[in-house]
Amino acid sequence: MFYFVEISSKNTLKENSHYLCAMDDFKLPITAWLPITKKEVEKRDWEQLDVILVSGDAYVDHPAFGTAVVGRLIESEGFRIAIIPQPNWKDDLRDFKKLGTPKYFFGVTSGCMDTMVNHYTANIRLRSTDAYTPGGKAGFRPDYAVVTYSRILKELYPDVPVLIGGIEASLRRITHYDYWSDKLMPTILEDSKADLLVYGMGEKALKEILQMLKKGIPFHQLTMVKQTAYFRKTEEGIPKNKNWKDLTLNSHDVCLKDKKKFAANFKHVEQESNKLVADRIIQEVNGKNLIINPPYDTMTETEIDFSFDLPYTRLPHPKYNKRGAIPAYEMIKFSVNTHRGCFGGCSFCTISAHQGKFIASRSEESILKEVNKVTHMSDFKGYISDLAGPSANMYKMKGKVQSICEKCVSPSCIHPVVCSNLDTSHKPMTDLYKKVDELPRVKKAFIGSGIRYDLLTKSYNKNGDEDDMMEYMEQLQKRHVSGRLKVAPEHTAPDTLKLMRKPDFKHFHTFKENYDKIDKKYDLNQKLVPYFISSHPGCKEEDMANLAAETKDMGFQLEQVQDFTPTPMTVATVIYYSGIHPYTMKPYYTPKTKQEKQNQHKFFFWYKKENHHWIKNQLTKAKRFDLLEKLLGRPKHGGDKKEFTDRKPENSGAVNKPKWLAEKHKQTAKNSGNRKRR
Ligand code: SF4
Repeated sequence: MFYFVEISSKNTLKENSHYLCAMDDFKLPITAWLPITKKEVEKRDWEQLDVILVSGDAYVDHPAFGTAVVGRLIESEGFRIAIIPQPNWKDDLRDFKKLGTPKYFFGVTSGCMDTMVNHYTANIRLRSTDAYTPGGKAGFRPDYAVVTYSRILKELYPDVPVLIGGIEASLRRITHYDYWSDKLMPTILEDSKADLLVYGMGEKALKEILQMLKKGIPFHQLTMVKQTAYFRKTEEGIPKNKNWKDLTLNSHDVCLKDKKKFAANFKHVEQESNKLVADRIIQEVNGKNLIINPPYDTMTETEIDFSFDLPYTRLPHPKYNKRGAIPAYEMIKFSVNTHRGCFGGCSFCTISAHQGKFIASRSEESILKEVNKVTHMSDFKGYISDLAGPSANMYKMKGKVQSICEKCVSPSCIHPVVCSNLDTSHKPMTDLYKKVDELPRVKKAFIGSGIRYDLLTKSYNKNGDEDDMMEYMEQLQKRHVSGRLKVAPEHTAPDTLKLMRKPDFKHFHTFKENYDKIDKKYDLNQKLVPYFISSHPGCKEEDMANLAAETKDMGFQLEQVQDFTPTPMTVATVIYYSGIHPYTMKPYYTPKTKQEKQNQHKFFFWYKKENHHWIKNQLTKAKRFDLLEKLLGRPKHGGDKKEFTDRKPENSGAVNKPKWLAEKHKQTAKNSGNRKRR
């Protein structure tokens, strides 16, 4: 399956060894990748490197992997750059020493995920696999990787600056709740001892940093770069900048003592991260000032195209040839990203916190060029697995009047209502899908990422054009669904949905009706797969019973469900820790104990026989006989045994069964009816 093969007979790097490339009939030299070994650095005749990146992920040279994106950007600025992927942090630290001292700085990232999310389940059980490591093997990175790597580098090279970035550093840039140690932690700059932090999608900040270093500006003087954070001793004061207003938040110490003050901080952090004209944030941390500069503007089309058009090989480094496939890469190797950012602002999600609320969209030309590249990969069979962004249907969407957006502090453009200034036209996507569909080597281009169904529902997106929505839906359902379409209503309880910043569930009913109509019209028989979350702040056990009953009524047997994980820097995590909503400062119930969480989760699986007795007990205790009957039917013979009539979900055949099975069942029923009549 793996489509690049080492030509050299031994697994060592040889002078002229080449690697079969992903593209038809091409062979790539090892220098096509950024170097990760001393030999590869020497092959480029580099005596000293300018920048060395240390990453918790294996090196996959693909625009979906942050380390590659940053590495290629640094290279494009004319710097000599190498990567140390997944260094061993337990031995004599030879991996950290093998490439010597960089001229300018070490860059450190945990990789594409926060290490703790990567390592542990929502129940804090250690995972046995790691999708970003060859062979999916776990154990190739430490817990809190950014802190571990950065401290090692600071010890080995005390005079070399360390710059941290990526999702772990970004979302831990200020006092935050750490679910895994169950405590508030200060900015990651404190524990990591790093010199500078770049938050969010860091290309613009990094570019400015590189250009200033090139001009000879010392690293410690980089205090005015947007989208960065750093410490200054209190006695040194705050560097002056007449263009920025300063916003001083509750100190780390105050947050430790007072949960309300911590919660109050969050509202400002979220608002300033999402504003087009934002303030500089100051927070006192153990006698120093943490200074977080305002974010950069959203990338323009030219800027984002430039990033995606860098000369990626689109392949894992050949070093991993014999260590097995990298699952995260296998998942995306035939997919193409269309945009970044998400304006949904869901309470439990970190996408807008990291990628931003404003959408940065690539040009059609750049996307089509990449699709074309993918179609020439040697094992491409005609199927693009995903043509999307974090929320699939936000491509090219933005405010109609930019000056209104400039003054906006709303964390979401579509909650509690769809903003009247938001242009939600799906036409650019419909057109793009059609163009990709027409490419001769593409049999099908699927939309694998979830879509925001609320944008496609006139009852919710009141200003949206219904014809535009329907045209998109038809194109999507007819040509771009790979048997199942993912949507994320996340819950059915109105209060929980409000807290999640999600629309009322009635709109999902409307969406499903439209979906089913198109499905029937074209005889597609494609499944709609809704995603749900249990144990979200505000959600009670009874809400979960209602969720189970309502979704059963709609014909679903849920599979895509998850237990809420409080990851750093979300509204929901702040409520989980403090019990207070940071915007209203009102208290909220949050299920926290293992038992509460397990109970909530069990309701998703009402259809499993082993849960019936438990469900009966819980609902009898709560005197919710109505829900009990909806979920399990009436007890057989009026008894109180575990056995119920076990009513099948209505519509289940129509929506969830494959066509052939539905027909078979229909035929069987007809035959048995005929037999009875006879
Ligand atoms: S004005 Fe509307 S479209 Fe613009 S950022 Fe605010 S909510 Fe979004």
